[in-house]
Amino acid sequence: MMLKSKEEVPDIFAKQKAKLHVDSFDYYLVHDMNHVNYEKAKKYGAIDFLREKRKSGEIRCLGFSFHDTPEVLDRILDENPFFEFVQLQINYLDWESAGIQSHKCYDVATKHGLPVIVMEPVKGGTLANPPQNVKEMLHEAHPDWSPAEWAIRFAASLENVMVVLSGMSDLAQLDENMGFMQDFTPLTEEDQALLLQAAEKIRDGIAIPCTGCRYCVEASKCPKNILIPNYFALFNTRKLMKRRDFSPEIEYYENYLSQGYGKASDCIACKSCERVCPQHIHISEWMPKLAENMENGQGF
Ligand code: SF4
Ligand code: SF4
Repeated sequence: MMLKSKEEVPDIFAKQKAKLHVDSFDYYLVHDMNHVNYEKAKKYGAIDFLREKRKSGEIRCLGFSFHDTPEVLDRILDENPFFEFVQLQINYLDWESAGIQSHKCYDVATKHGLPVIVMEPVKGGTLANPPQNVKEMLHEAHPDWSPAEWAIRFAASLENVMVVLSGMSDLAQLDENMGFMQDFTPLTEEDQALLLQAAEKIRDGIAIPCTGCRYCVEASKCPKNILIPNYFALFNTRKLMKRRDFSPEIEYYENYLSQGYGKASDCIACKSCERVCPQHIHISEWMPKLAENMENGQGF
């Protein structure tokens, strides 16, 4: 996504090896392939370059992470049958979602015989703390499983999954994950069905499926300095909690504005943020709705 010329490709590869103090990579992952970045990678010869490195043994296994439609994934894999794994965003909330299409992307990878590495199994932490009604239904089925454990079990139960990458922020989470991943038994069909019901319930409550990846503020520069993911998180909380009036979320929002960040109503719909959003969120269409809610006091 950051490439600007063909000449940079060997330099970047050399720097990566130097930073890691290695002569070769066991697994080399091309970051964030989508239709735009794929065309860029082809244009600047990055894919041909990496294929040569795979042949020479400097890369032992070549793959990429992916954020786009199943059709684009199918095209990339048809045109480049030498890729050996793919990293996909998979969790029970995105599995059947129209925006992310995890299930269909997983099926495409499987059709091409590629093992899958799962990213975002807990959806940036969202599924570690689902709404109360979802917590209760999960607790009733397995009182000893936490919501995060349910989410990771969902991803790890898929037959073609090689690795599940789970962000962990303390030793207790690491212990929990290691505990149930040792001697792992896949979810039953009933448990899987329950999670898909849970996804429906969560979707009812979440307005904007933002994972907080921050690409829209780091890989793109909003001309109005709008703190997109932070505002989305505040808006989602207001929606989940059905806030009607002034609330702590508004207070946080106003704190950001007082620090010099742009207002949602400042958005000029340039869409530069949308071009890098892996969740394909129509950010510029949400901004007026945020403004109505957070600036003009319209509640849920
Ligand atoms: S569309 Fe709006 S929020 Fe996105 S970069 Fe442009 S001004 Fe900023
Ligand atoms: S790029 Fe998209 S998903 Fe990531 S923080 Fe921005 S709006 Fe959220």
